Amino acid sequence: MRKTVEVDIGGVKVGGGNPVVVQSMTNTDTADPAATAAQVKALADAGSEIVRVTVNNKYAAAAVPELFERLANLGCSVPIVGDFHYNGHILLRDFPRAAALLHKYRINPGNVGTSRRDENFQAIIRIAMENGKAVRIGVNWGSLDQRLLTRMMDENGRLANPKDAGDVLRDCIVESATRSAELAEETGLGGDRIVLSAKVSGVRDLILVYRQLAPLTEYPLHLGLTEAGMGAKGIVATAAALSPLLIEGIGDTIRVSLTPRPSGDRTEEVRVAQQILQSLEIRSFEPQVTACPGCGRTTSTFFQEMTEDIQGHIRERMPEWRRVYPGVEDLKVAVMGCVVNGPGESKHADLGISLPGNLEEPKAPVYVDGSHLRTLKGDRIVEEFKEILGDYVARRYGRSRGGGGEGRLSPRREPTEAVSAGNHGTRPGV
Ligand code: SF4
Repeated sequence: MRKTVEVDIGGVKVGGGNPVVVQSMTNTDTADPAATAAQVKALADAGSEIVRVTVNNKYAAAAVPELFERLANLGCSVPIVGDFHYNGHILLRDFPRAAALLHKYRINPGNVGTSRRDENFQAIIRIAMENGKAVRIGVNWGSLDQRLLTRMMDENGRLANPKDAGDVLRDCIVESATRSAELAEETGLGGDRIVLSAKVSGVRDLILVYRQLAPLTEYPLHLGLTEAGMGAKGIVATAAALSPLLIEGIGDTIRVSLTPRPSGDRTEEVRVAQQILQSLEIRSFEPQVTACPGCGRTTSTFFQEMTEDIQGHIRERMPEWRRVYPGVEDLKVAVMGCVVNGPGESKHADLGISLPGNLEEPKAPVYVDGSHLRTLKGDRIVEEFKEILGDYVARRYGRSRGGGGEGRLSPRREPTEAVSAGNHGTRPGV
């Protein structure tokens, strides 16, 4: 794990060995505090631990107090970050109430002016100091400090063996982040109030940039692939970019920058961020359902429907389970389509069911803690499995057992009932 200082953002600790924090950003007009409050609440309810809102003009800045008031009325206390470009030094000066309320300011050093760049940057830093706020110095290659880039390109051109332009660009991103952080500290901001980011939209470039930046500083790093895109492309690219870095211990807070479909669900970026962290076994957010992809051995939709049903059931129960059964986020459930990998995978999970495939005997063995518990038959397989799941969660994670996760409920042993592929017709309940 990379050593970093701890930065407090409205009570949420980033860096310093704390768990990697999930954050997100609204896409509502901040000047509309009702819509923005509703989306912030939705993002927070989905699990976002910090939410950023754009503060792009005087109307947005003027709406910040009402946004906070509405969030308080909704019972939502998630820390709010103001995202500033071009005019942050003016807005934070002219709207002191917004400056006092926001929990952190994001500054893009490429977007604070040209001739008065340092002056404007320092004006924001001073307001952060006056208000006791943290800042994120967020470099983005789409808005890189052009004067710095030109100078570094020129210097490179004069070398006997000039670097590749891509290398210089990455050097410039890192240089912009570290120089800006130095300027912030020279202005008087404590090193424990600075988070850095250096975002690019290319997967390989992002990995290279963060690997270059990480050893140079002890500031916590905000990690994210900028402009990741829409749907599968955005999710896959983000996971591909963030995973190697997170495994190397680089990244103290993450944001997944997905483009939602028109009227799509903004909270998807939170679920993807959580899933990345949980897939890497860095943090747990909700029980994981392992399911095989299905194949010609499972020609009906029963298997897919059951997997979806169990996943939905868990999601529905989680608000209560999370409250009553601490540690339940670590639960692993397997729903498998046939005997080929079903019993084996089910035994690796805390709780698993192996459904009968085509021409297999119409019964579904259930495994608990690696051992065969019982075999379900008939048309209530799904309901009975949910009951077994509920019982398991209550027994394993109930407070009477000491607050969760004391261990498995029974030792692993081989199943007592052999389950074999047969030729007994269709599966039950289909
Ligand atoms: S477990 Fe069975 S149904 Fe699932 S993919 Fe493997 S062979 Fe196909």
